[in-house]
Amino acid sequence: MFEYKAEWYGRNIIIAPIDYASSQLCFCCDYKNKEVKNLSLRKWTCSNCETEYDKYINTSINLERLIA
Ligand SMILES: [Zn+2]
Repeated sequence: MFEYKAEWYGRNIIIAPIDYASSQLCFCCDYKNKEVKNLSLRKWTCSNCETEYDKYINTSINLERLIA
């Protein structure tokens, strides 16, 4: 039994698995940054490719990729 969460993205509502790490994934290289969740960082830098992220923007990008 999977649990899902619903988030608004633009005019679409997106249903994602509740454990989908949308705020932790670097959309550039798919590196998963666990510190984002643990420290509730607003901004973070991917330690793999050094891309800088705003947590919420990155979440939106990853959710968009999920439905693409
Ligand atoms: Zn990266």
